[in-house]
Amino acid sequence: MGKDILKGRVTRYSIPFFDRGPELRYDTQDDLDRFFITLRTTRSWIVGSVALSVASVLSDPPGRSNMNVLSPYGQLQEWHHFLVGICGFVVVSESKCEGAYLNEGGKFFVFRHPDRQSLHVTITTSARPHILQLFFAAPNTIQQVAVGAHHIVMPFPVMTSNQEGVRGWRPTDGAHPAVVVEGHESYKVASPLPGAVVLHESTANWTRACGEACPAVDRWAHGLKGIGSCSWGGMDGVDAHVDANLRALGHSRLSFRTGAFCLNEYCVFSGKYKGS
Ligand SMILES: [Zn+2]
Repeated sequence: MGKDILKGRVTRYSIPFFDRGPELRYDTQDDLDRFFITLRTTRSWIVGSVALSVASVLSDPPGRSNMNVLSPYGQLQEWHHFLVGICGFVVVSESKCEGAYLNEGGKFFVFRHPDRQSLHVTITTSARPHILQLFFAAPNTIQQVAVGAHHIVMPFPVMTSNQEGVRGWRPTDGAHPAVVVEGHESYKVASPLPGAVVLHESTANWTRACGEACPAVDRWAHGLKGIGSCSWGGMDGVDAHVDANLRALGHSRLSFRTGAFCLNEYCVFSGKYKGS
């Protein structure tokens, strides 16, 4: 997809959360620009459904009702100032991160605007000064897609853009998702509707090779090998820059995996793990 298409999509899927109606469209654009400026200054990422729709290969991905943001420790004040102070959102709930996010997450805040009751903006704060561990704590690969102020990042680009994912290795109790992927439940449907997310329990029943990378075995982020990323151009007023999280990811010693070893018998990546 070209930059223009990606930028169009980022705008299309984020604008409903800031929409002040036809008479105030310049205010809407202002809020949207400030949202992306805040995303940059706080070194945060949009994840979840909105990010998935932006990156989807579907020609017309569904609109979304949850805008999920992962934010570093210490940046909540900045988000509160923007959402509540400037845009008029209210905090509807605040809870501790649980489940898969227990160790990496701080708190999970849900914001709602009085004029747009069906839409939510959520901020998940990291327990650390950056969000990478929090990003990879997601309980499945479908949640590992991010839109930054300038970049889109996907560790499993082909699989994720096809709205397909594998459950993570860590057991989760299902409490308080920090990231909402709408259409999640539909993975049980044998022939999912367009736009639905297909979530596999493991790679065991796959009838084809693992694709661009094996989602199960250890992968290192160092040097960004195998991490899909591209620029979507950024909003006007946000200067071109290298995404701070993406740069940190390339320099990190982070590794992640969705299984102890790959269960797919067609897998070409996990040979060394078989039989051991
Ligand atoms: Zn595999």
